[in-house]
Amino acid sequence: MVVRRIAIIGAGMNGLCVARQFLLDHPGLDVTVFEKEAEVARHQSSHNSGVVHAGLYYTPSGLKARFCIRGAQLLRDYCGARGLPYDECGKLVVALKAEELPRLEAIHRNAAANGVADIRLIGPEEMREIEPNCVGIKALHSARTAIVSYGEIARSIAAEIQESGAKLRLGHAVVRLNERSEGVYVESDSGPLDDLPFDLVVACAGLQSDRLARTSSDEADPRIVPFFGQYYLVDPKLRDHVKGLIYPVPDPRYPFLGVHFTKRVDGALMIGPNAFISLGRENYSGRRLNLGDMADFLRYPGFWKFAARNGSAALRELKTVLSKTSFARQAAQYVPSLRDAKLRAGVRGIRAQAMQKSGDLVDDFVIHRKGRVVHIRNAPSPGATSSMAMAEHIVRDVLAADKL
Ligand SMILES: Cc1cc2nc3c(=O)[nH]c(=O)nc-3n(C[C@H](O)[C@H](O)[C@H](O)COP(=O)(O)OP(=O)(O)OC[C@H]3O[C@@H](n4cnc5c(N)ncnc54)[C@H](O)[C@@H]3O)c2cc1C
Repeated sequence: MVVRRIAIIGAGMNGLCVARQFLLDHPGLDVTVFEKEAEVARHQSSHNSGVVHAGLYYTPSGLKARFCIRGAQLLRDYCGARGLPYDECGKLVVALKAEELPRLEAIHRNAAANGVADIRLIGPEEMREIEPNCVGIKALHSARTAIVSYGEIARSIAAEIQESGAKLRLGHAVVRLNERSEGVYVESDSGPLDDLPFDLVVACAGLQSDRLARTSSDEADPRIVPFFGQYYLVDPKLRDHVKGLIYPVPDPRYPFLGVHFTKRVDGALMIGPNAFISLGRENYSGRRLNLGDMADFLRYPGFWKFAARNGSAALRELKTVLSKTSFARQAAQYVPSLRDAKLRAGVRGIRAQAMQKSGDLVDDFVIHRKGRVVHIRNAPSPGATSSMAMAEHIVRDVLAADKL
C-alpha cells in the first residue's frame, strides 16, 4: 500500500509527536491532526507533574523503560534546540522507615538494569547536602531527572508541524474511524470530517482512547478507568524549602508513585498528585458528575475486582481527597518544615489508565494496530517523557511495512 494521506486523532503530546515524526522521516507527507478541543494539549499533556522521568521504576524489557530513556534524551535535545526550559534539578526517592529499604534497593537495581545514568544510593548526610530540609534514612538520587512544561513543548511542536505543512483541525471531535477498501474515513456524528479517505490513521485519544477504539471496531478491552490527581501549590515564600523533586518509595499495593514534591519550571513548588477514582473523564473541577463516564466503570467487572483488592490504599488516598490537612501531613513527613505551610489548590490531572477485565491495571504502554488504524490504548506516566520515542516506534516499527 502506498501511503500519502495520514490522519492523527488527538493533539496531546503523543498525537503531536507522531505527526512530527511522520514529517521528519517523510517530508511532504499529507498529515492532518484532528483535535476535539479548541487548543492543543488541553488534557493530560498539560495537567501533569512536568517531570522528565529517568527510567527508575520500569521493567527492563518493557516499552516504558525503552521509550522513557530514549524519550528523555529526545526531549532534552528538543528543548535545547528550541530554547524551551529543561531543568535537570534531580530527584530523591526517600525511604523513611527500615521496612522500605528493600524496595528502595530494588528500584536502584532496576534503574541500573535499565542503564539509567547518574543514580546513587545515599545516606542522610548526603541527602541534606542535596535537599537541606528533607528527612529520611536513605534515598536514591537520580541526578538526571528533569522538569519541563509539557504544555509549552506541545504548543511548540504544534507550531513546528504546521510550518512543515501539517493541517491542525481544532474543534473536530472524531466519533468513528470507518475503514473501507479505499481507506479510512474519519467521521463525526454528522458524517466524514474530510471528503477523502486516509491511507493510515493513528489514534492518540488519551482519556477517550478505548471509546474511539470500540466505535472503530478495535477490541473492547482494555478499558480506560480515570484516576484523578490533585496538586496543591505551596506558599511562594516557602518555595525554597525544596530544591528539586522529592518522592516517596512507591507503595507496591497501589500502582501510582505517591504524593511528591515537584518544582515547576516557573519556580513554583507543587505537592501532589494523590490518586483516586474520578467521577468523570474530563471532570477537572471534581464537582460535576459525569453519569455516562461513571456508568462505564461501574458496569465494568474489572473495576470491582480492582476496588476489592486496593481497599486500604484507596482509603489512605481518600483521606487526602477529603482533607487538605491530611494531604499536607502526608507530604510533610519528607519535609517537616512545610508541615504548616499554606497550600492553595493547583491543577487536577486525570490519568487515562487502562484496566483489564481481571481488575489488573495495564502496566506497560499498549499500541495496537488493526488494518490501517493504530490505536494507543495505554499511555500513562511516563507517557509524556516517552512521547517522542513512542512516535519513533509507531512510525518506524509499527508502520515499517507500509510504503511511506
Ligand atoms: C496527574 C498526572 C501526572 C502525570 N505526570 C507525568 C510526569 O510527570 N511525567 C510524564 O512523563 N508523564 C506524566 N503523566 C502522563 C502524561 O501526562 C501522559 O502520559 C501524556 O500526556 C499522554 O499524552 P496523550 O497525547 O496520549 O494524551 P492527552 O494529553 O490526554 O491527549 C489526548 C488528546 O486527544 C483528544 N481527543 C480525545 N478524544 C478525541 C476525539 N474523539 N476526537 C478528537 N480528539 C480527541 C483530547 O482532547 C486530547 O487533546 C501524568 C499524567 C497525569 C494525569
